[in-house]
Amino acid sequence: MNRLDAVAIGELLIDFTPAGVSEQGLPRYEQNPGGAPANVMAGLTKLGKRTAFIGKVGEDAFGRFLTGELEKHGVDTGGMVFTGEAGTTLAFVSLDASGDRSFSFYRNPGADMLLQESEIDWERIGAAALFHFGSVSMTHEPSASATLRAAAYARREGKLVSFDPNLRPLLWPDLDRAKRLILEGLTYSDVLKLSEEELHFLTGERDLEAGTRQLQEQYGTPLIFVTLGPDGSFYRQGERTGRVPGFAVKAVDTTGAGDAFFSGALFRLMESGKRPEALTEEELGEVCRSGNAAGALTTTRKGAIPALPSREELDQLIRG
Ligand code: ADP
Repeated sequence: MNRLDAVAIGELLIDFTPAGVSEQGLPRYEQNPGGAPANVMAGLTKLGKRTAFIGKVGEDAFGRFLTGELEKHGVDTGGMVFTGEAGTTLAFVSLDASGDRSFSFYRNPGADMLLQESEIDWERIGAAALFHFGSVSMTHEPSASATLRAAAYARREGKLVSFDPNLRPLLWPDLDRAKRLILEGLTYSDVLKLSEEELHFLTGERDLEAGTRQLQEQYGTPLIFVTLGPDGSFYRQGERTGRVPGFAVKAVDTTGAGDAFFSGALFRLMESGKRPEALTEEELGEVCRSGNAAGALTTTRKGAIPALPSREELDQLIRG
């Protein structure tokens, strides 16, 4: 197995996104690959890193489309599992008047939620410097146990472990369970990325300083990011905190901005060659700026994976 810079485990599904209206007044749909951990791998690949994705899809045209899309974007799919037990997960996206997205799932749980611990490609995790995961694959068993066992293994093997809970409250039958599993995920994580809503959900705090302090003290997480939309991002590394302003761009579609942020920030962190706890204040600023730039660029184009920036675009926006 060749060395990999990063590997992710998680959900992989098709998003049916509204694209206009038919003559009968029905929505028309575009089919796009969905799944935050895969987006982060595609983001890192576009910035020049070698990545792989581990997940499960159905033995159907949707599953073949998804693996084909990842491969097209340079993400290794040798660790993916095809199953006849269930179809590939499909999600229908609705947009409300303000452009916010909500999802209805067809076949939930679909194939991606049926990934078992015995099917995990441990060799690929062993070959990677960074392991990345989220919480959508923790909404059902057996993929919840598989995801957490993989994260625990990566931590034991000394990998850099990054976690984006990416909480989708409607996917969880029980939010207490969501909190418990996300907090377990935190115990394996070196780098955590949250939205303000997720920070509030996990800590009961709306204050960035107080909420991140609580998590840092309880779980010892070396580096925590909170993304702030157009306002950029906040970080906490031990006692050190900071806010890094966002880039002013003309946003057309914010889909995947959080995933782009994380790929930009992780890219810069990996380039530093340092553990997150060893970054200087200046380097922390650079890591957040790289995340902010990747997030901002992604909002200027439609879709998630196709909107992710290249290394040249990222450098150009940061240099100004
Ligand atoms: P999510 O997509 O998870 O809701 P955010 O909306 O906070 O996350 O976006 C992630 C990052 O992308 C932000 O921290 C910011 O750097 C960048 N970003 C998001 N929206 C905009 C925007 N309208 N203009 C500029 N940057 C943005």
